[in-house]
Amino acid sequence: MKIAIDGPAGAGKSDTAKALAKKLGFIYVDTGALYRGIGLYAIRKGKNPASIEEVVPLLAEIKIEMRHIESEQHIFLNGEDVSAFIRTESVSAAASAVSAIPAVRDFLFDMQREIAEKNDVVMDGRDIGTVVLLDAELKIFLTAKPEVRAGRRLRQLEAKGIEAKFDDVLADVIQRDYNDTNRDFRPLKLAEDGILFDNSEIGFEETVEQIISMAKERMA
Ligand code: C5P
Repeated sequence: MKIAIDGPAGAGKSDTAKALAKKLGFIYVDTGALYRGIGLYAIRKGKNPASIEEVVPLLAEIKIEMRHIESEQHIFLNGEDVSAFIRTESVSAAASAVSAIPAVRDFLFDMQREIAEKNDVVMDGRDIGTVVLLDAELKIFLTAKPEVRAGRRLRQLEAKGIEAKFDDVLADVIQRDYNDTNRDFRPLKLAEDGILFDNSEIGFEETVEQIISMAKERMA
C-alpha cells in the first residue's frame, strides 16, 4: 500500500507521516531530505542553487542514498551521512531552489518510485500524489494557515536550540509556499483524487487518528 502526504512547509507532514508509518508498520520516506541533500551539495560547492547551469552539472557527481537505521531515515551524500546538516534554514532555501529544476526532480524520481515498489510506504513531499505515486491508495494534502505553520516551525527550531524570529520564519514559509506552488514544473497542488486536510484547528494526535482511519478504510 502507498500513502502520499503532500502539502506546504510546516503543515506537520513529516511528523504525521512518521507516526502513520509507525502505526501501520510501513516505511516512512521523507522526500524533502533528498532535495535538501542536493541543496547542501550545491552550497558546499559554492554554486547558486537557483541556477540551472550551475546545478545540473553537479548531478553527475552526486550519489544520494536513503538508508533506514533503527527505523530513522538517514541521507547519505557520496557516502557521507549528512542527516545532521540538512535541517538549517540555508539548506531549506537551497532545497526549495534546486527543486524547481526539472533535471533535479527527474534525478530523484526513479529513486522514490523504486522504494515505493519494494515496500509499503508513507511518503511525504510536494508532488507525491500528483507525480511520484499516482497510484497511491490514499493521498492527503496536509495544510494549515501560514501563521499556524510558522508558529509550529518556530517551536521546532527552538526545541533544537536554534534561535529564530517569528516574522522571519513566517516570511520563509510564505516564500517557500510561493516557490512550491508557482514553479512551472510539477508544482505543489492537490491531486484530483487527493483529500484536502486543513489541521489549523486540530492537534497532531487528532490529525494522525483521522488519517489512520482513512487508511484503514482503504486497506479493508
Ligand atoms: O519537506 P521539506 O521542507 O524538507 O522539503 C524541502 C524543500 O524541497 C521544499 O521546500 C520543496 O521545495 C522541496 N521538495 C519538493 N518536492 C518534494 C519534497 C520536497 O519540491 N517531494
